[in-house]
Amino acid sequence: MDQNTPILVTGATGYVAGWIIERLLTQGYTVHATVRDPAKTEKLKHLTDIAEKSSGQIHFFQADLLTPNAFDQAMQGCEIVIHTASPFVITNYKDAVKDIIEPAVNGTANVLESVNRTASVQRVVVTSSIAATYGDAIEIENTPNNEFDESCWNTTSNENHQPYSYSKVAAERKAWEMAEQQNRWSLVCINPALVMGPSLTPSSQSGSIELLQQFANGVTLLGVPPMWNGIVDVRDVADAHVAAALSNDAQGRYIISGGSLSLLEMGQALTKRFGYRYPFPHFTVPKTAFSFISPLLGYTREFVKLNMGYPIYFNATRSQQELGIHYRDIRESVCDHFQQLLDDGVIKKRG
Ligand code: NAP
Repeated sequence: MDQNTPILVTGATGYVAGWIIERLLTQGYTVHATVRDPAKTEKLKHLTDIAEKSSGQIHFFQADLLTPNAFDQAMQGCEIVIHTASPFVITNYKDAVKDIIEPAVNGTANVLESVNRTASVQRVVVTSSIAATYGDAIEIENTPNNEFDESCWNTTSNENHQPYSYSKVAAERKAWEMAEQQNRWSLVCINPALVMGPSLTPSSQSGSIELLQQFANGVTLLGVPPMWNGIVDVRDVADAHVAAALSNDAQGRYIISGGSLSLLEMGQALTKRFGYRYPFPHFTVPKTAFSFISPLLGYTREFVKLNMGYPIYFNATRSQQELGIHYRDIRESVCDHFQQLLDDGVIKKRG
């Protein structure tokens, strides 16, 4: 592709989008970056700094997911659209429908309506999630090989139970539905696990940071519940988006996961790197005990029943074979992320 043909990236201020844009600028591409509020220049500084040092160029456009036609101007002349913008909010929300589900689903439809109006667009990459492949960890028991793969769909989340997961599966389904109604542009969905690794900006509010903050503030010192996360390094997620955008052969969904770790294993990796100065978890609280106190900690008993005690695994073979991803060590990613939150002052340094 001609490097002067712009590539649109939505949600440019985000944790994941930052690294996608870094990859594109470094490779000399022109990026049309949409942001909600371009006046907040401190949220854009890392991107303008990268652009200054690279051969690529960046141009910012204002666009809110819920404003009709908001993406039209930014999309002019683009052959590729990478849609990452979506609220990644697990706990701090007031109204799940308004705060999470509507921006995710209606926002995706809004972006794709602009794509339908923009004749130059040929490839759309949507950032979905592994949350679109399953709802609760217990569902691993129904998989033939004890792992979720791209044939799996989340059919159990809803507005009241796992609303973030519901927002991701509903948005991805909307994207496939709209892709199937036309034949000019092709859709590729990227389904990352929990993303860890250094952020290019201290201003992102990504839910990725929440867990590490809990590890640092002592909430988990007395123990963590028996829960597992698929985890992946943010730079691998960025590489997957860029490969999906630029490769003619990329098609369908791609799980992007470097492996699974329990919360305890994450704590152990952090203790190994940072020692005992921080209140990382060293114990697992048994499920029955956790269930007893769970409402006090913001977990419903239903959530505990369906999600604790079930190790989950993801098959990322397609991404390795077709997108050429060589996954980084996820324990290193967790530790590098923690180090970066310390360096940025997001987590207070101790000792
Ligand atoms: P993030 O740093 O919070 O980025 C989210 C982006 O979405 C921000 O740029 C935000 O813009 C934008 N956004 C939210 N609501 C918007 C609205 N109404 N209009 C326009 N833009 C809006 O989170 P992230 O971790 O990078 O997440 C990026 C994508 O990856 C999301 O689709 C998320 O679901 C997906 N994902 C993330 C993970 C993970 O572990 N981080 C895992 C799987 C999938 P503002 O700066 O204006 O708020």
